[in-house]
Amino acid sequence: MKKTKQSPSPALSANARTVLERRYLRRDADGKILETPEDMFRRVAQTIASAETRLETGTDAAKLEEQFYRMMVELDFLPNSPTLMNAGRELGQLSACFVLPVDDSMESIFEAIKHTALIHKSGGGTGFSFSRIRPANDVVASTSGVSSGPLSFMKVFDAATETIKQGGTRRGANMGILRVDHPDIMDFIMCKRDQRVLTNFNISVGLTEDFMKAVEEDGEYDLLNPRDGRLIKKLSARKVFEHIVDLAWNNGEPGIIFLDRLNRDNPTPHVGEIESTNPCGEQPLLPYESCNLGSINLARMCNDGDIDWDKLGRTVRLATRFLDNVIEVNKYPLAQIDEMTRANRKIGLGVMGWADMLIKLGLPYNSTDAARLGEKVMKFIQDTAHETSADLAEERGPFPNFNGSIYDKPGVRPVRNATCTTIAPTGTISIIAGSSSGIEPLFAVSYVRQVLDNDILVEVHPLFEQIAKEMDFYSPELMKKIAEHGTLRDLPEIPEDIRKVFVTAHDITPEDHIRMQSAFQKYTDNAVSKTVNFCHDATREDVAMVYQLAYRSGCKGVTIYRDGSRDQQVLSVAKSE
Ligand code: UDP
Repeated sequence: MKKTKQSPSPALSANARTVLERRYLRRDADGKILETPEDMFRRVAQTIASAETRLETGTDAAKLEEQFYRMMVELDFLPNSPTLMNAGRELGQLSACFVLPVDDSMESIFEAIKHTALIHKSGGGTGFSFSRIRPANDVVASTSGVSSGPLSFMKVFDAATETIKQGGTRRGANMGILRVDHPDIMDFIMCKRDQRVLTNFNISVGLTEDFMKAVEEDGEYDLLNPRDGRLIKKLSARKVFEHIVDLAWNNGEPGIIFLDRLNRDNPTPHVGEIESTNPCGEQPLLPYESCNLGSINLARMCNDGDIDWDKLGRTVRLATRFLDNVIEVNKYPLAQIDEMTRANRKIGLGVMGWADMLIKLGLPYNSTDAARLGEKVMKFIQDTAHETSADLAEERGPFPNFNGSIYDKPGVRPVRNATCTTIAPTGTISIIAGSSSGIEPLFAVSYVRQVLDNDILVEVHPLFEQIAKEMDFYSPELMKKIAEHGTLRDLPEIPEDIRKVFVTAHDITPEDHIRMQSAFQKYTDNAVSKTVNFCHDATREDVAMVYQLAYRSGCKGVTIYRDGSRDQQVLSVAKSE
């Protein structure tokens, strides 16, 4: 295949190169690195473009390969990590997100553990609902014994994950969901109070509309045995809600997800009910579904202080085609996943670098204008992705479960993908792109970042450094001072308009966080990964208020974090020692 030699080199930072060299680039049996980052992007572009030949679309695969290559090498768009790591290699598993079913039987539970191990080995993350497992101390007919309950089985999943460690690529990640009406819910809410247990799990309580109504009315609700639907007892909804808030305030877990809302947006209700998301919460999936994600770097979609809508539109169209091709060439870890994923063809196109874009446009993250623009940008991406998916349906056929889906209406163009958009956390790909993560505000203008287990990276925001130099207030002493503060708020030596625009996660209120999450959620098929940061002194009432606000403003779930409430933080402001 023809290669264009003059393609631009990626402007990769030292941190990006470190990440790529450690985990992404091909190596030989002795661990010697066999490819450059450019080779990696070429490998991915070529593999994903090869779907065109397989599908006989008539598209020039070599030309498309070049477009895919440029889109990645110029850091305009990156697919999720497993695609970068595994495309064109023996493993060939390209998805970040999976959900597996766990039924109320030993066979099903241990089958799910085996499948989890296979998925983790390939770099994917897994989500499960444990709600179908009978509660602890229930009857087990076959042994005349008592059941151990969902929590004890979660420990087995956790231990299996610990052992796999994703084959040296990345840590296994799990999401564990329990419905709020499961009899073991109170123990579940508490299960991560000790930070040393279930370390390979994020946990979320699955809240229902009935429950939220009962909280509002200060009423009771029913706990039901999933085995036979029997009423076990009634609990005060407000007490349970306060219990969740208390534990989340304590160390950020559990999170919450709104199950009815996930199912209201379930594009294929005729195929099954959504009971879980992937590990970071942004991708609701049916049991045995997988999804591949990709994110457009909004920092690269600006031109002279304005949004370059043409470039953004072009990138969305190309990225949508890219992600649909991923489904085609993906090597799935299980036959059931292969079948389910190809039948619904969900993709999750999202964004990173949103905070960077706002800085370039001179808009403070915590302004109504920024939230309004968030809606506009995401609506544009969503509309363009849907149009592209409809074009792909004309070319390649709609997704096989289309009949009976929510799109199956007279006058509506069929689509190729049951969902198109998701806002991922972009934890690692944003480091590769040198952009802010997802739709998060800057964490700090200078900070220490812990990635990939225990590696530490120090970062100063490149746009800030550039502006400080241009405006002549750059000095190493000042940068050091900023690193200690973690915010520009109390530093009068920095011009006020710069301080306003370089707001960090801690300068903005939890309400600002939710406003932005809900702005993007409004035009996202799947869900939005977002952490609402609280200062250390925030109260339980503050947390409860944000949960209610998230519920009222259409979010599908919430993850909160109160500064300093965990022993180990993924991001922390640099200390001057
Ligand atoms: N994920 C995982 N292990 C990790 C990080 C992520 O399994 O260590 C999965 C998980 O399903 C998560 C999804 O990848 O929800 C997307 O995460 P992110 O955007 O941070 O991944 P990236 O592509 O940036 O590595």
